[in-house]
Amino acid sequence: MPSHQAVAGEQAVKPEFSSNQPSSMAKPSEPNRNPKYDPSKKHITEYPITWENWYQHVNWLNVIFIGGVPLSGCVLALWTPLCFKTLIWSVIYYYWTGLGITAGYHRLWAHSSYKASLPLKLFLAAVGGGAVEGSIRWWSRDHRAHHRYTDTDKDPYSVRKGLLYSHLGWMVMKQNPKRIGRTDISDLNDDPVVVWQHRHYIKVVVFMSLIFPTLVTGLGWGDWWGGFIYAGILRTFFVQQATFCVNSLAHWLGDQPFDDRNSPRDHVLTALVTLGEGYHNFHHEFPSDYRNAIEWFQYDPTKWCIWTWKQLGLAYDLKQFRANEIEKGRIQQAQKKLDQKRTKLDWGVPLDQLPVMEWDDYVDQSKNGRGLIAVAGVVHDITDFIADHPGGKAMIRSGLGKDATAMFNGGVYDHSNAAHNLLSTMRVGVIRGGCEVEIWKRVNRENKEGAFVKDDFGNRIVRAGEQPTRISRPMVSAGAA
Ligand SMILES: [Zn+2]
Ligand SMILES: [Zn+2]
Repeated sequence: MPSHQAVAGEQAVKPEFSSNQPSSMAKPSEPNRNPKYDPSKKHITEYPITWENWYQHVNWLNVIFIGGVPLSGCVLALWTPLCFKTLIWSVIYYYWTGLGITAGYHRLWAHSSYKASLPLKLFLAAVGGGAVEGSIRWWSRDHRAHHRYTDTDKDPYSVRKGLLYSHLGWMVMKQNPKRIGRTDISDLNDDPVVVWQHRHYIKVVVFMSLIFPTLVTGLGWGDWWGGFIYAGILRTFFVQQATFCVNSLAHWLGDQPFDDRNSPRDHVLTALVTLGEGYHNFHHEFPSDYRNAIEWFQYDPTKWCIWTWKQLGLAYDLKQFRANEIEKGRIQQAQKKLDQKRTKLDWGVPLDQLPVMEWDDYVDQSKNGRGLIAVAGVVHDITDFIADHPGGKAMIRSGLGKDATAMFNGGVYDHSNAAHNLLSTMRVGVIRGGCEVEIWKRVNRENKEGAFVKDDFGNRIVRAGEQPTRISRPMVSAGAA
């Protein structure tokens, strides 16, 4: 027995090792933990929502940021004309702040999929702050938990709790800090840009989301109010809603070409909304790849920016999974889908489940009117098929009660693969001593796994031309001997 294997009476998981496992609780030293939070007291989320306590379940600060501020922006916009230059600047700044999240928060810090020079880091930390989605440190911690515990209770924005919940419900409603999965963010704690942004987060947010875009329009062309409302408040609202779609839409809409066990999906619509984060099934499979879209024609402007920064010397060490591994995943998933389709088809009773028939019984039953035909030791009941036989009734009847192996395999007509497939659905027994058939039965009885190729569901795969009734070698008839 290997030394690492537990013996009777010994625990498989030794407590001295398991006690070092991180708990799902945030440490008091972690800034993202609410200082008023007392772990010994029951958290509000542990009580059911009632008419009396519902308002305690709501995270009112986030409601103001996600709902109240944009709403006030919409109202103010009624009195503020939108000038063309401000519109263009708002769109440009929308892309900058969006990139701060996708290229910065997400691909650089949460997944370390490339390395950035200090100027690029500072730019991404600043414009990312302008998206008003929390600090890099807080965002990346939750995002790592989302990847590690996708679709479970420890996933902070699990789509299993509903599309709306994964979009913004997780921010509007209070979350139980005991429940969010713990992740390692020691690398982020060692990054001075991350630490600096976290410490000065409120200043960064107010400056980058409101003051900076207003300064540009105000000093640039005198449109102070327009800059504040359109490039500031409403642009923030659109960036937030767009990036929230990665948690909701990307786990709900589209295909799953790499793995369908969890919810992430690929869709061009999500990609269009999220600056290329829509190839989310790929992303969850290969999170450390700096790309989300791997085909040149797929929309991933975040990837194009990172690549361009590399050409400019601002980014380096761009990580990419080997094409071989990506293709393997794709093929395995395709195979799984194929197996699912295969199980829905009628492949006939498996040979090892067919009853064994004596040759004399077979001949006897055929004589008494049952349409039995034996091909390669397998007996088929073709009573209902005789009238439909494309080669005519007389031809097929001539094989009844005989060994039709040679006739079927070229003696009279070399039947197609489709004919062998169809024949297999009519099989009712095997002849004792039926050569290969008996060998197959014995192999199965002795449980020699691997003797047949099987699919994910344990069913034997019958490839084209592999039906047991097909005899590939030319038959040597007794008469020719
Ligand atoms: Zn996801
Ligand atoms: Zn991710």
